[in-house]
Amino acid sequence: MSERRFDPTHGEWVTVATHRQDRTYQPSAASCPLCPTRPGHEPTEVPREHYEIAVFANRFPSLSTRPPEPDVEGTALVPVEPAYGHCEVVVFTDDHHATLADVGVTRVRLLIETWARRVADLGADPAVRYVLPFENKGEAVGVTLHHPHGQIFAYPDVPPRPSRELAAARRHHDRTGRCVFCDVVAAEAGGVREVVAGEHFVAGVPPWARFPYEVDVWSRAHVPSLPELSAHARGDLARVLARVLAGYDRFFGVSTSYLLGVHAAPTDGTDRDVSHLHVEICPPHRGGGKLKYLAGSETFGGAFLTDVAPEVAAERLRAGCANVEVPA
Ligand SMILES: [Zn+2]
Ligand SMILES: [Zn+2]
Repeated sequence: MSERRFDPTHGEWVTVATHRQDRTYQPSAASCPLCPTRPGHEPTEVPREHYEIAVFANRFPSLSTRPPEPDVEGTALVPVEPAYGHCEVVVFTDDHHATLADVGVTRVRLLIETWARRVADLGADPAVRYVLPFENKGEAVGVTLHHPHGQIFAYPDVPPRPSRELAAARRHHDRTGRCVFCDVVAAEAGGVREVVAGEHFVAGVPPWARFPYEVDVWSRAHVPSLPELSAHARGDLARVLARVLAGYDRFFGVSTSYLLGVHAAPTDGTDRDVSHLHVEICPPHRGGGKLKYLAGSETFGGAFLTDVAPEVAAERLRAGCANVEVPA
C-alpha cells in the first residue's frame, strides 16, 4: 500500500506506505547495500568498485512515479490519491564509516551540485511542486542504514512546513515589501548568534531555534533555490556546511546525529519573490549526552520548548567551529 490521504482537520496530506516496513533495517557493514560492489561479492545498490557520489531511486519509496491504485476509496471528507512523487537516495561517499563532517569540502560541494541538478531535473516534472533534499544522520534520529547518505523527495504539493514558511514570508512581504529572510540575514549576520560567516552564506542559531543547537545556514543574497546559486556561492556553502558539521562533532565530542534539510522555492515557479534558500540543521542533542524528544507541547501544541538560550548555544558552537580542522 502506498497512498496519500487528506487530513481535513489540519489541511494536510499524510502518506501511508506500508511496504516500507520490509525495508533493510540496520544491516551490518558486511551486508551494507550502499557500499561499493566488491569483486566476487553480491552486487550492492551501487554497481561500482569505487564512487564519489551515487544517486538512485529509493527501493522502498514513499512516493513513486508509478504509484499503485489506493487500497481504500477516498470520500469527499477524506480524499485519497495515489502517492505520486520521487524518492531518491544520495550516497556521498563509498566509505561506510565516513560522515558529511569529514568527507571534505570538495565532496560537500559535489553533493551541493548534485542536489542542484536533481532539484532542476525532478522539479521539471510538471506533477512535482516541491523538491526537498535532506539528510537524517545517526541512530538518535532513527536512521535505518548507517552508510552515510541523504535523500531527495519530490512532492506533488508544497509540504506543510515550507508551505507555512512561505505563507509567513508572504505576509512579511505584503507588510514591508521585503523578503523576511533578507531581513533576518541583515539582523543576524555578525551578531551574537552567528556561528560561521562565509562570503555568500552565514550560519547562525536562529533566535527562534526549535532545537537547542539548531543552526540555520542562510544565503546572504536573495537566491530562491539551489540551481540559481553561482559556482562561487556553492563553494562557499560547502565550506560553511563542512565547518558547522565538524564544529558540532568537536563541541559534542561525538559524531553528532542531526536532521538537515534544504528549504527553497517551490519548483512550480510560484513564490520566488519570497523564497530564500537556506539549510536547517537540527541535532536532537541537548548536551551532556541528553537528547531532546518531541513531547506533548511540541506534538500536540506544535509549540517547541528548548532549554538552551540561542545566544549561549551560538557562543558554544562558535567556539567549536573556530579553527576546527576541515579537510579540503
Ligand atoms: Zn556501507
Ligand atoms: Zn531574501
